[in-house]
Amino acid sequence: MAQPLCLPPGSDIRLADFDADFHEGLDKEAGKTETRRLWEELDDLAYRLYAEARRAVVVVLQGIDAAGKDGTIRMLARGISPQCLDVVSFKAPSQLELAHDFLWRVHKSMPGHGRIGIFNRSHYEDVIVVRVRKLVSEPVWRSRYDQINAFEKLLTDGGLTIVKCFLHISKDEQRERLEERLRDPHKQWKLGPADLDDRRHWDSFEQAYDDALTKCNTEHAPWHIVPANRKWYRDLVVARLVRQTLERLDPRFPPYDPTLITSLE
Ligand code: ADP
Repeated sequence: MAQPLCLPPGSDIRLADFDADFHEGLDKEAGKTETRRLWEELDDLAYRLYAEARRAVVVVLQGIDAAGKDGTIRMLARGISPQCLDVVSFKAPSQLELAHDFLWRVHKSMPGHGRIGIFNRSHYEDVIVVRVRKLVSEPVWRSRYDQINAFEKLLTDGGLTIVKCFLHISKDEQRERLEERLRDPHKQWKLGPADLDDRRHWDSFEQAYDDALTKCNTEHAPWHIVPANRKWYRDLVVARLVRQTLERLDPRFPPYDPTLITSLE
């Protein structure tokens, strides 16, 4: 059975309707082979975007703890030259950041012309964790959906393409991943009591995500719900999405000047 990657703006998005295990019936080896092939195309397209230096792309990665944001970044970085990439991780805001509006730190982290930004978390934390943890009042987080949509419109009007990916894992899959991390001395450092406490609020996070995905799924910046229980399938879907985005932009090398070579001594 097919499963849509995104829904039309205005649709009610409920994560419970999406199968985190979905993988098109593909087998793992075939999926990995396709991802490796996509890396070659991504590298070429990203290099052209870099040379053209007129437009930019940002890939926004959101998901519950252990959804695979770090792994997805590693995958994209295997395909795209680091000179074309800006990876930014958004943590709990600093005092300086809290002294500004919530979009301040995000706006100044956007990739400049020619570059691909990858956001590990984003301004969506300001309607997700902030809501679940009651860090601001309800009227404040509620007003942010419209503010985010207007902000993203400003960005896309300015030549930025926003690829928003929600990495969708099931509660059982999260348990397995957290357990694996807790047992592995090289992975346990990634977890703290706060992460385990977040799991207790699974339903509240899901509700907050349903609302954010529904209210901020716009024509100019749609959400993609990436089935992420299988890491290889998640990688394939995100690689395809970034490839499609770059192909649509069709970046061009600046015009060739045949006379320039005559000035070479
Ligand atoms: P990660 O889990 O992304 O690998 P951390 O373990 O350092 O990295 O987690 C970052 C933490 O920062 C998360 O718990 C996240 O919810 C929190 N965070 C990010 N943005 C905000 C925000 N705007 N307000 C409050 N907390 C935030």
